[in-house]
Amino acid sequence: MLLFKRIADLQIYIGTQKKLGKTIGFVPTMGALHNGHMTLMEKAIEENDLLVCSIFVNPTQFNEKEDLVKYPRTIDNDVTMLTEVGCQILFLPEVSEIYPKDLVTPDFDFGNLDKPMEGAFRPGHFDGVAQVVYRLLDIVKPTSLYMGQKDYQQWAIIQSMLEQLNSEIELVRCEIARGEDGLAMSSRNMRLTKEAKAIAPNIHKTLLEAKENLVNLSIQEVKAKAIASLNEIPAFELDYFEIADGNTLETITKKEDSKLIVACTAVFLANVRLIDNMILKSE
Ligand code: AMP
Repeated sequence: MLLFKRIADLQIYIGTQKKLGKTIGFVPTMGALHNGHMTLMEKAIEENDLLVCSIFVNPTQFNEKEDLVKYPRTIDNDVTMLTEVGCQILFLPEVSEIYPKDLVTPDFDFGNLDKPMEGAFRPGHFDGVAQVVYRLLDIVKPTSLYMGQKDYQQWAIIQSMLEQLNSEIELVRCEIARGEDGLAMSSRNMRLTKEAKAIAPNIHKTLLEAKENLVNLSIQEVKAKAIASLNEIPAFELDYFEIADGNTLETITKKEDSKLIVACTAVFLANVRLIDNMILKSE
């Protein structure tokens, strides 16, 4: 695997490969890689000539400094996993490389997409996400971009950004990779204690129940039951459980009104913030 820390070096290499007609799949990450990330890498490798993975813990998307400081960093293990999966190019820039003093990035209008859920609980988070993804895409100029459904709202926002830019980059949404217990894989899971790890799968269980319940119950009833289930677990501190239109992320009251319905939740467990979601209905 080739490792680039400097934009100029990376761009010379990618430029040469593109001139040879090679397609580039790109997976941006914040490192602390796990098997969930690897499902994105595998898909990108399968569908492209070359895979570029970036590892960059983006300071502008952390609304709490402590969260940025505590974010796990496991670069040696990341390099091993990427080498084993067959990644050809790792981009590992410094903050000063991504954010030089004179950098200007466009403002985007995401309408409702960045307002609810993560947008409401993490002010400024999606501005930071859009900024870094814009910057990384401008550097890498991939054929296709691979992002996980795990961050459903992020995925919707980046899709909107690509539309606003009239970009030719294809955005591929990758399914949520879960452990055998149902817990969505996340870099933050490594901060969970053994006891917390045993409790955490209840988030997935609640989402599954919500999906089942939506067959016979109203949106309000499904949401109330899910919130009650999560609140029943003393170790959980709920940020939100929302049922929204999967395209606009507007809150919905009638299930007949949407072809695509998604439930999204964020829960604190032992000081670790976990997010998860599930598509409840798609026509
Ligand atoms: P992160 O390093 O957390 O920024 O994640 C990098 C990419 O991996 C994002 O597009 C995430 O949505 C995706 N990702 C993280 N966890 C999972 C998972 N459990 N399943 C699928 N994709 C994931």
